[in-house]
Amino acid sequence: MRDVIVVGAGPSGSYASYALSSKGYDVLNLEEHMEIGKPVECTGLVSRRVTEMVRTGSVVNTVSGAHIFFPNGKSIHVHKKEKTMVLNRDSFDKDAAGQSIAAGTDLRIDARLRKASVSKDGVTVEYRERGNLKEERARIIIGADGMNSMVRKEVFGTRPYRVISAYQVDSAARLEDQDSVQVFVGSDVTRGFFGWATPSDNLTRIGVGTHGGASFRYFKSLNSRFGESKILGINGGGIPISYLRKTYSRRAMLVGDAAGIVKPLSGGGIYTGMVSGKHAAATAVDALEREDFSESAMSAYQRLWKKDLGNELWFDGMFQRLFSMISDRSFNRIYSILSSPEVIEKINERGDIDYPSRVVISLLARRPWLLRHIIQSKS
Ligand SMILES: Cc1cc2nc3c(=O)[nH]c(=O)nc-3n(C[C@H](O)[C@H](O)[C@H](O)COP(=O)(O)OP(=O)(O)OC[C@H]3O[C@@H](n4cnc5c(N)ncnc54)[C@H](O)[C@@H]3O)c2cc1C
Repeated sequence: MRDVIVVGAGPSGSYASYALSSKGYDVLNLEEHMEIGKPVECTGLVSRRVTEMVRTGSVVNTVSGAHIFFPNGKSIHVHKKEKTMVLNRDSFDKDAAGQSIAAGTDLRIDARLRKASVSKDGVTVEYRERGNLKEERARIIIGADGMNSMVRKEVFGTRPYRVISAYQVDSAARLEDQDSVQVFVGSDVTRGFFGWATPSDNLTRIGVGTHGGASFRYFKSLNSRFGESKILGINGGGIPISYLRKTYSRRAMLVGDAAGIVKPLSGGGIYTGMVSGKHAAATAVDALEREDFSESAMSAYQRLWKKDLGNELWFDGMFQRLFSMISDRSFNRIYSILSSPEVIEKINERGDIDYPSRVVISLLARRPWLLRHIIQSKS
């Protein structure tokens, strides 16, 4: 019997596998695709915290600022001293999986989980590897199988209730400022989320996220600013931005997108997914040492990840719900407040891609009347 089966070799699954294998545990990691990292469904913007967790050569650009465009056509520019990385996401996933293989993980590609069941004595999975049906048993299962998680379906029977639909292209359009991303808000370019353009090596990743609307329809409007005939490739997918009430059960844990452990304001899930993978691995180590796989033993996982990320995801989620209701008129009023040099300085000082609520809270603490613009939008 294996110690742990990890389903999915995205960043969360690879990091959990690496953390367990490097402690000497027997880990089987199943990945349904024939190539790690493909298909790419990501912009690849991460903080240095991510590149400190995985040794990687996948950084294709760094940016230090953002131009934020409002419905009135005006924009503000914010920047930080610290650089944000732009990853080539498929190479990053390969580096993360390579790190876990080097630590001893038994990674199988073209191996798709079909069924998983948990009993008092262990976990049983049925998977199809290169066309052959196989079965394996383990003490613990970690579901790191993304937005449409099969582990979640089979073992937890639930799903995140708030999902962003994202549509993104690789475009040959070149942004003048290669040191800044562009962010777009307002009803012309999105419904309930935002649009973006990220300079990435010799191309630009242009995309739109929407909550409750077809992202493709909004994308057309955004992309007309960049020249429609420049599309080199299309990708996208769902981003779960509400975490599950319960991310553990007897012998089982869900990490990353499978659990909805994603920053709701930005839709970024690489860092949060890897942090949850780290805590799932630590909980599994403890359970294996004590041979206690009960629900109460596994609940340590949720306490650990919530200690690191819980407040951030909670505040982010609340702000995202408010943000998704702001009207164009209110956005324009907010622009006139944010564009003051004093406010921009505060954003530059407090902004953190992994902890975005910090800057929002510090702005609201000094200017509580900003909330009025947001709340007025709802009525
Ligand atoms: C358009 C877009 C842009 C984004 N941009 C960013 C960004 O800039 N920065 C950021 O931090 N995040 C971004 N995200 C979010 C980020 O991509 C995810 O949060 C992140 O990939 C989550 O990692 P994960 O390992 O939990 O899941 P995934 O990366 O989805 O990995 C899950 C893995 O499980 C495998 N799998 C699924 N089902 C099975 C099965 N039955 N059997 C075996 N294997 C299976 C899949 O093939 C996949 O490899 C973006 C998302 C989208 C859609």
